[in-house]
Amino acid sequence: MTLQSNTRLFNTLTRRKETFKPLEVGKVKLYTCGPTVYDYPHIGNYRAFVFEDILKRWLSYKGYKVTHVMNLTDVDDKTIRGSQQQKKPLREFTDFYIEAFLEDVKALNIQPADTYPRATDNIPEMVALIKTLLAKGYAYRSEDGSIYYAVAKFPTYGQLSKLKTRELRAGARVSQDEYAKEEAMDFALWKAWAPEDGDVYWETELGKGRPGWHIECSAMSMKYLGETFDLHCGGVDNIFPHHENEIAQSEAATGKKFVDCWMHNEHLLVEGKKMSKSLGNFYTLRDLLAKHYDPISIRYLLMSVHYREQFNFTFDSLASATSGVERLRNFVRRLHEVEGGKPSGGAVSARSEKFEACFGGSMDDDLDISTALASLFDFVRDINNLLDQSKISKQEASDVGGLMTRIDSVLGVIGKVEVREALPEDVDALVQKREAARKTKNWKEADVIRSQLKVMGIILEDTAQGVRWRKEKAKKD
Ligand SMILES: [Zn+2]
Repeated sequence: MTLQSNTRLFNTLTRRKETFKPLEVGKVKLYTCGPTVYDYPHIGNYRAFVFEDILKRWLSYKGYKVTHVMNLTDVDDKTIRGSQQQKKPLREFTDFYIEAFLEDVKALNIQPADTYPRATDNIPEMVALIKTLLAKGYAYRSEDGSIYYAVAKFPTYGQLSKLKTRELRAGARVSQDEYAKEEAMDFALWKAWAPEDGDVYWETELGKGRPGWHIECSAMSMKYLGETFDLHCGGVDNIFPHHENEIAQSEAATGKKFVDCWMHNEHLLVEGKKMSKSLGNFYTLRDLLAKHYDPISIRYLLMSVHYREQFNFTFDSLASATSGVERLRNFVRRLHEVEGGKPSGGAVSARSEKFEACFGGSMDDDLDISTALASLFDFVRDINNLLDQSKISKQEASDVGGLMTRIDSVLGVIGKVEVREALPEDVDALVQKREAARKTKNWKEADVIRSQLKVMGIILEDTAQGVRWRKEKAKKD
């Protein structure tokens, strides 16, 4: 496949769409900030992970070999607090949530990262990086033995978040991992052990203590992807302070540009409001699965709005996502079932080419997924019309099926469609009985059996090619 650098991505650093050009021809190095494993991630977190998955799949579709690293933050303020509350060792506490996270990733059909480094497995790399910052004068030790980054020493601090550095209070320090722009100041690289850390500490050349959250991502991204790499993603709330600090740490240590292109997804609202436990609109993936929603419908919904737009998650939109996925699966099933229609005289291949170009053009435009999906459903409607009129040959149907497989390598929602799912015997007997009734034009009996089957969750459709059945979609609670 020839690599075309016609993919344009919005770079938070420059606040512009730029033509994507990886550092090494044909290869993409991607780092995405992973979960802090102190709880089950919520659907807002998964909006980020699904967006990153679509980005990665799109680049793979374009022929790039993508190397993807996602860290697991298994030591920070929140994980330490959580493990203490549950009275478990930190490792045991975080193991549990890592496993849960990886299960969710699988359920949402997110392609796994090549590497999931854990912060606690990379302490020596963090120590080395902090030592470099100390040696170069970008870091200093405070009275309690903690080591801070001296923001004033890094003239381009604020380049990502567009923070005005003159607003910084020189010498003021923050030891928490998370803080607001208004409190921007020197931040902790290494936190000297304090009694509230309990048994969470490392004895290192820097003293007894633990790393700050921001240094973790600088150390792990550069270890696995090199000092300069192509893409770094996260949610907009990561821009400040996390990503701003990653740039300051990495660039001060190496003297090189850290990341070419930064991409951030917008927040997710639920039923128009910011998700919060107190409002009762806070959902983890597990909460939704417990309500019998299909994880693939959730995936579809999370990806269906452009990543830079605020996303309003509603249960109505989840229901339409379910029918969208079903429409795509039914379409692919129909294609498989085509036996011997008339060739379309070139109409199918012309329509397919037009669609693939539209879909690609939209995705290349900063992953404009909603336009891409609109062109997909137009295409499905047009081909369905040809199928209704039997104006499509078996070969053409198979070609369209191949195209759908390529498109689904990006979307990840159709999967393998079973053409002839075996019906339970009693159900199959009813379908046969109804067919017999129809043949003898006993419409009354046919209708009675159809209602009987509906109660059993089987929907029948009478088509030109004979009767077709499908399982009724799961109802929401
Ligand atoms: Zn990070």
